[in-house]
Amino acid sequence: MRRKIEKSDAEWRAQLTPEQYHVTREKGTERPFSGDHRVTDEHGIYHCVCCNAPLFENEHKFDAGCGWPSFDRPLVSGCVEEHPDTTQGMQRTEVTCARCNAHLGHVFPDGPAETTGLRYCINSVAIQFHAGE
Ligand SMILES: [Zn+2]
Repeated sequence: MRRKIEKSDAEWRAQLTPEQYHVTREKGTERPFSGDHRVTDEHGIYHCVCCNAPLFENEHKFDAGCGWPSFDRPLVSGCVEEHPDTTQGMQRTEVTCARCNAHLGHVFPDGPAETTGLRYCINSVAIQFHAGE
């Protein structure tokens, strides 16, 4: 397991835009349909906006109709971590970057039944698309 990246709040604030900081370091949520939720057939990998770790593959993205980018699995097992989240009166599972603890979104058990059955519902400001990878 790779060493965790740890930075101070001031370092993250200097590196990230205010919206990226709010979502990834303060567990915020972007407005639905505000980001890169559309499905394309382009090859590429989504990386963590904080530490550049590769996290999701465009081929695993699907249209969940929820307004956030949705994937049926992470790029490799262990590149994201999952934590129980009972905030806002809901039972959810939070998804974070395994390398830098960035908050990415949540995983729900209502994904496509023909593949994993999981929906990784991710804030698009938390990930950056690298085409052609
Ligand atoms: Zn990261």
